[in-house]
Amino acid sequence: MRKPMRVDDILNNDVWDVDYEPHIRVDTTKCRECKEKPCLLLCPAQCYTLAGEEVLFSYEGCLECGTCRLICPHDAIKWNYPVSGRGIHFRFS
Ligand code: SF4
Repeated sequence: MRKPMRVDDILNNDVWDVDYEPHIRVDTTKCRECKEKPCLLLCPAQCYTLAGEEVLFSYEGCLECGTCRLICPHDAIKWNYPVSGRGIHFRFS
């Protein structure tokens, strides 16, 4: 019987073709006012981190799930797919 794979192991098979232009832009002035900061908990790629009181964002490891766009309570996130098919390429194994 085949051993079930962990999510981290599955994601390790994926490849990113990172665009130099971020496909997600975050208005961090709105993040400062946000008490809940759900992006810190719900982004599966942990693209959002906290440094002191500041929310930091890096788009390079984004899984393009769209969660952050949906859960941001302050409409601080402008979200598009990466251009020209760039971004993550899933390799299901
Ligand atoms: Fe994280 Fe998904 Fe938003 Fe990408 S789209 S930054 S993986 S929550």
